[in-house]
Amino acid sequence: MIVTDLCEARAELKGLIRSSRRLVAFTGAGISTESGVPDFRSKDSSWMRYKPIEFGLFMSDALMREEAWRRKFALDDLYSGAGPGRGHYALANLVACGKASAIITQNIDNLHQASGAPEERVIELHGNGSYARCLSCGARHELLSIRRDFEATGAAPDCSLCGGPVKSATISFGQPMPQDAMERAYRETVRSDLFLAIGSSLVVYPAASFPLLAREHGATLVILNGEETPLDADADLVLRGDIGDILEPFATP
Ligand SMILES: [Zn+2]
Repeated sequence: MIVTDLCEARAELKGLIRSSRRLVAFTGAGISTESGVPDFRSKDSSWMRYKPIEFGLFMSDALMREEAWRRKFALDDLYSGAGPGRGHYALANLVACGKASAIITQNIDNLHQASGAPEERVIELHGNGSYARCLSCGARHELLSIRRDFEATGAAPDCSLCGGPVKSATISFGQPMPQDAMERAYRETVRSDLFLAIGSSLVVYPAASFPLLAREHGATLVILNGEETPLDADADLVLRGDIGDILEPFATP
């Protein structure tokens, strides 16, 4: 069933959430559009004029590392003022009241944590762009000091502990998926009884395999998105409309 009427969509969702005992949310770029975060994978994004720097190149070429950091800081400046939207607050509330066991996200914008969802409940499949990590020893590094040094020297940062290359803690093209996050997402998905896929075009794999996995394990699958997705026919319910509007009733505790 596809629901496009706002009141009906809210009512359907309310009923499903009420009878759910273990809800898992799965989010993509669409939940952050009202926060002003650009969807840099979308076709009309100015970021697509750059060919993405693949992980192998980042590792092997110091000039590519510098370019990657230049782009990273330029992108950060574009959405430095972004704060959580109604969708983020709604999901944080559902976690807080014990309804939702996890938020699995394809986003790297840290807005689920910023809306109050506890870090251990947020599973990031594509990493997090709000800090960096050493690719050799795994140490966390903060962007503020990296940027200060980068602007002073123009050189890509090396780890202060081991000398290894430091990269934004996101998953780049060609970089292996984070094993721990994938395993946690799998466990949460197969145990859910209601799986809400929100604001994801459901085309980027392996992330997009989770909604079907939930369905195979008996969960009710709801897809909430502004546009059609390739999995709409597999969903129990499709809510098509503005994500913030549909989730607004859940955004205040
Ligand atoms: Zn290191």
